[in-house]
Order: sequence, then structure tokens, then C-alpha cells
Amino acid sequence: MAGPVEPLWRDPEPGAAYDVIIVGGGGHGLATAYYLAKNHGITNVAVLEKGWLAGGNMARNTTIIRSNYLWDESAGIYEHALKLWEGLEEELGYEILFSQRGVLNLAHTPQDVRDSVRRVHANRLNGVDAEWLDPAGVKDVCPIVNISPDVRYPVLGATYQPRAGIAKHDYVAWGYARAADALGVDLIQDCEVTGLILHGQEIRGVRTTRGDIAAGRVALSAAGHTSVVAKMAGIDLPLQSHPLQALVSELLEPIHPTVVMSNAVHVYVSQAHKGELVMGAGVDSWNGYGQRGAFHIIEQQMAAALELFPIFARAHVLRTWGGIVDVTPDASPIVGLSPVENLYLNCGWGTGGFKATPGVGWCYAHTIANGEPHPLNAPFDLERFVTGALVDEHGAAAVAH
Ligand SMILES: Cc1cc2nc3c(=O)[nH]c(=O)nc-3n(C[C@H](O)[C@H](O)[C@H](O)COP(=O)(O)OP(=O)(O)OC[C@H]3O[C@@H](n4cnc5c(N)ncnc54)[C@H](O)[C@@H]3O)c2cc1C
Repeated sequence: MAGPVEPLWRDPEPGAAYDVIIVGGGGHGLATAYYLAKNHGITNVAVLEKGWLAGGNMARNTTIIRSNYLWDESAGIYEHALKLWEGLEEELGYEILFSQRGVLNLAHTPQDVRDSVRRVHANRLNGVDAEWLDPAGVKDVCPIVNISPDVRYPVLGATYQPRAGIAKHDYVAWGYARAADALGVDLIQDCEVTGLILHGQEIRGVRTTRGDIAAGRVALSAAGHTSVVAKMAGIDLPLQSHPLQALVSELLEPIHPTVVMSNAVHVYVSQAHKGELVMGAGVDSWNGYGQRGAFHIIEQQMAAALELFPIFARAHVLRTWGGIVDVTPDASPIVGLSPVENLYLNCGWGTGGFKATPGVGWCYAHTIANGEPHPLNAPFDLERFVTGALVDEHGAAAVAH
């Protein structure tokens, strides 16, 4: 008979005090803890998670990884993340099923084409791999896309990033958790932060459902709930929390070789390693914190998917779910210092923060360790909503996670 399964991390009781407390045990919180310990030698760290590790967006996302955003600031941080993804399995010593199968962003109107070609040029100037494909080129990469001119939104071409792809999201969380734990980080589940302890404008610790814990620095990584936690320190963040849904089909043989996204038709589709078609679209437009969305959004996703992929007409939906994503006015994240001393912010990744996991963990750890932003996250400070130095990625974000 097999013996008990070896746990991947310890299950410690909360300590009385830590050098750094990270609020939120999703991918970002876990990666940040790992890089704090690994890159900066800061190991007296606790990650506090109100539920279970990766029970939030981390294991609810559709795992698309790419770095082909428009602006230089975005290319910097997402390309740094992509380079880390390329060595992550080796770094963590843990399988994450990272598959660089490429991503196609379809263009359906002349304006789409102009915007997409502009983005390809911008990507290349930033050293990001990017190509413009005509409809026949799209068909070469993904033979099951319908490129007929007789549809509502004919495919006029696509941007293609060959190094983009997918990874197994929960494995990524477990890999970071295991590695952070091995370096001495306390991963504490079932521990909700209910208040922030301040002395004037300086953070001193957190109140939790398992008691008060003192901390030299507190780093928020609570994704869709970050504005709620920041409010505990009197900080109003420019964030809107929305449900974002996705679904998978029953298991199918391998038929879809890449990732396809369409802002105009409003759907994106890939095929998971196990065989499910993974589909999603944009956010449910209202605000909320329930981890579910409305049925008509799913109907629209399915209709859009069938326009692009008539071959899926007989596939059955196996499962649908939702997460809560936090969206900023310029569709770019907030990573950096806050108005409260030693309280740090990482939020606003909206529909696209999974791909950033290693990159933001790396940069956020640097920011926390040094008390000042890493050059790659410096443009993403909270102040930009006052100065107007926005990083407007609505075009490259939208349905395209
Ligand atoms: C359906 C869907 C599809 C997506 N698809 C993609 C995609 O294809 N590619 C991509 O790049 N991104 C995608 N995303 C976005 C991505 O999942 C998020 O941007 C990213 O996961 C956010 O970082 P995280 O992993 O740390 O968040 P989370 O995993 O949500 O971590 C935050 C954690 O904080 C915890 N928390 C909240 N409040 C408290 C508190 N008071 N005390 C303690 N803990 C607290 C939560 O329980 C949660 O576990 C998608 C999201 C969804 C919902």
C-alpha cells in the first residue's frame, strides 16, 4: 500500500512578527515571497491567504502567456516575465507544463489591421518576437480557423507571437509555494486580513482572523480584493472589481495547435494539455465580488467561438466558472509604493496578470526589499493617475488576456 503523500509545503501557525507580510496567496503573492527569499535573502516572510493557496484567480485563469503589448513600459515587464517563464521549470525544480505554442490576435477590420501592424512594429522595436500574417498565414498556423470571406467579421490577418503560450496554472502556484517554503517562508492559509495596523502614516502589522501579526513591511497582492484591503489603510485605489468568466469543453483529441484571440468577435480559445477547449471573453460589465457571472455572457462566448471555429459545433461545455479581476482606468497594473510608509501595492492586473506572475514577483520583491521601485515597474506607480502618465493598453488587453 502507498504511504501518505508528502506535503509540498509546511502548515505553520502564524508567527507573532515578520519582516514582510504578503496579503494574498495567489501566484503573485507566492512568486513575490519566493523572489524575496531567493534574490534578496529576506526569509522572515509570511504569505497570508484567506482561503487556500491559489483558490482565487490563479487557478481560475485561462493561462495565456504572451508579451506583445503596445507600449515600451508594458513590453519591459511582460517580456521580462516571458524570459523567466522560459526557465521557470528548471528554476523551481517543478513541472509547470509551459508550452510555447504561439498566439494569434486576429484582425477583422481595416482599422484592426492598421492597429495590429503598428503593434507588430512596436513589439519588434522592443525585442519582442512578432509577425504579421495574412489570412493564408493564419490558416497555416491554425488550420481550424474559419477564414472564409463570407462571415460576419472575415479574418483579414493576425499578429503572431511564436514564443507565447500556456502553462498549467495550479502547478505554477504549487511550484512557487514549494520553493518559497523550502527557503523558510511561512505560507498561512485560512487567515483573512481584516484590518491594517497603522502608526500615523506607517504600517505596523495586520489584523487577521487568526490574531494580530506585526510586520515591518506589508505587501498587498489580493487581486480582485485589493481595493477592499487598501481601504483598511484609508487608501482609495482607482480600481473596479468585475467578474470574469471562462469555460472548458469536454476532452477532445488534439485539434487546436495554438492560442487564438479575437477582440472583434469577442472570444479566445486554446486547448489544454488534457484536451479541453479553454474559452473566455471580456469581463461581465457590472462590479461584484461573487466568483460567478451571468449565463448570457457564456452564450455570447459560445456563439463567437462558433463563428471562428465551426468545427466546434458539436462540442459540449463541461464546466464554467468565474473569478474577480481588478481593472484600472488604463488597463495596466499598479505596482509600487503606497501613500502609507512600508505598505506596498500590486494590483490592477485585470484580465491579464497570470502571464506576469514571474516578472511581477521578481520586480515587486525588489521594490519591497529596497523601498523603491524596480525600473521595470516604476512606470506602473499609483501616481500616474494624478500626473496623467498613463500606460494605455486597452487595445492590447480587452478580450485578449
Ligand atoms: C476567468 C479568468 C481568466 C483569466 N485568464 C488569464 C489569462 O489567460 N492570462 C493571464 O495572463 N491572466 C488571466 N487572468 C487574470 C489572472 O488570473 C490574474 O490577473 C492573476 O491571477 C492575479 O494575480 P494572483 O494570481 O495573485 O491573484 P489571485 O490568485 O486572485 O490571488 C489573490 C489572493 O488574495 C486572497 N485575498 C483576498 N483578500 C484577502 C484578505 N483580506 N486576506 C487574505 N487573503 C486575501 C484571495 O483569496 C486570493 O487567493 C484571468 C482571470 C480570470 C478570472
